[in-house]
Amino acid sequence: MIVMKFGGTSVGSGERIANVARITAQTTERTGTPPVVVLSAMSGVTDSLLRAARTAASGDGISFRTIRQELQAKHEQAIATCVTDPEHARGLRAEVSTLLNWLENICQSVQTLGELTPRGLDILSGLGERLCVRIAAAAMLSQGLKAQTVEATELIVTDSNFGNASPLFEETTARVRARLLPLIQAGIVPVVTGFIGATADGVPTTLGRGGSDYSATIIGRCLPADEVWVWTDVDGVMTADPRIVPEARTLPSISYAEMAELAFFGAKVLHPKTMQPVVQANIPLRVLNSSRPDHPGTLVGNEITELPAIKGITAIRDLSVVSVEGLGMLGVPGIAGRVFSAVARSGASILMITQSSSEQTITFVLRSVDTPAVVQAIDKEFELELMRGDIDQVHAQSNVAIIAVVDAGMPGKPGIAARVFSALADKGINILSIAQGSSAFNLSLVVNQADVDEGVRAIHKQFNLDQV
Ligand code: ASP
Ligand code: MG
Repeated sequence: MIVMKFGGTSVGSGERIANVARITAQTTERTGTPPVVVLSAMSGVTDSLLRAARTAASGDGISFRTIRQELQAKHEQAIATCVTDPEHARGLRAEVSTLLNWLENICQSVQTLGELTPRGLDILSGLGERLCVRIAAAAMLSQGLKAQTVEATELIVTDSNFGNASPLFEETTARVRARLLPLIQAGIVPVVTGFIGATADGVPTTLGRGGSDYSATIIGRCLPADEVWVWTDVDGVMTADPRIVPEARTLPSISYAEMAELAFFGAKVLHPKTMQPVVQANIPLRVLNSSRPDHPGTLVGNEITELPAIKGITAIRDLSVVSVEGLGMLGVPGIAGRVFSAVARSGASILMITQSSSEQTITFVLRSVDTPAVVQAIDKEFELELMRGDIDQVHAQSNVAIIAVVDAGMPGKPGIAARVFSALADKGINILSIAQGSSAFNLSLVVNQADVDEGVRAIHKQFNLDQV
C-alpha cells in the first residue's frame, strides 16, 4: 500500500491535476492496489483564503468578495481542463459554488463581528484542500479510475491547538483503517484532503502551513503503508538550494535524521514534522518530481548512506543573534535557565545556542521577527542584574543567517569542520558563531546574511557536491 501526496504546484492547474490522475493510474497499475492520494490546495489558494479571512476581520467588505471570484474562476478553469464528462463538470461547478458561498458567508460574519479566532481561521483555511480533492477525484473518474473524496476531518483526530494541531494516533489509526481500507479493497482510490483534521468533538483544525506532507505520513503510519511518496516540483532532496547553487545534485538516498535536519534548516522540501510518524513506524519515504515521474527521486529511510563528503547544506535567513553578557554571570547558577525561560515566555523558539566556557556570554539565534519581544522579556527578567552591572547588556544583532552542514556520518569523519571553515575563510567570510547539533549530524554556522549565498556555494564546492 502506498500513500502519495501532491503539493500545491503539482495540483496548480487543470493540466497538473490531470497529471496527478495519470500518476495515480500508473501507480495503481504497477502496484496492483490503488494508492491513497493526499492533496494540498491548488497553489496560492491557502494564502488567498487567509487573506480573505484577515481582511474581513479588519472590516474590509470588498477583498473577500474579490478573492471568492478569483477562486471560483481558478477552480472552474481547472474543472474545464481535467474533467471530461460534462455532467460531472456541471455537478462539480455547482459544488464549488456552494463551498465558495459558504466562504463568503463566513467572511461576512467575520467582518460583522470584527474578530477572527484561530479556531475560526482553521475552518476557512482548509477550504482549498476540500475544493482540490473534489476536482482531482473527478479527473481520476475521467481517466477511468474509481475514486472517492474523503475529508480528513473524518480521519485525523487532533488536539485543539488550532493552526498547528497534533494528531492523536490511537483514535486516528482506528478511523483511518475503518474508512480507507474498505475503499482500497474495493479498488477505489481515496482522495484525501491534506492539511486538515478535527478534534474528537469534530471541530476542524489544521496541522500548520505546509501540513499536507504531515497528513500523508500520519495516514501512512496509521494504515500502515509500505511507503509514503511525496510528489513535489523538484527531483528530490538536493545537496543545496539550486537557486543558490546551480550545480546542486539530487541525493539518491538520505536518512530520516539527515532529512529532518535539512527540513528544519530551510530546505523547504517537507514540513518539519513530516518525518515523525514514518520514523517511528520505519516506513520509507520518497520525494519525487510530479513533472518527471520516472526520475527516481530521493529515498528517505533508516539507513545512513556513507558518502565521502557531506549530504547537504541549507541556510536559514532573517535571523538575529542575541547575546547576554556580563562578568557577574561567572559561576552564578541559573542564569541560562532564566534567560531561556524568559525567551519561552515571549513565545519565541530558539534555533541555536552557544555559551563560551568562560560563562561570560550566552548567545543564541532567533528569528528577527521574534527578537524585540525576546530582548524585552530578558531585560525585564534581569532588571536587577542589569541595574547592578552583573549583566552588562542584552545585545541583538540582526541580518544574520545560519548555514547548516548536514551529514549523519560527521562524527566519524575528521576534518569536516576544518574544511567548512577554510572554505569560508578563503572567501573572506566571517563566522559569527558556531554550534554542532547534539545529534552531531549538523554543523551550524552563523554568518552575516549578505554572505550566506556565497558561503553555501563555497562549501558545496569544497566538498565537490556537484559530483555526488
Ligand atoms: N495548503 C496548505 C498550505 O498552503 C497545506 C500544504 O500546502 O501542505 O499551507
Ligand atoms: Mg509543501
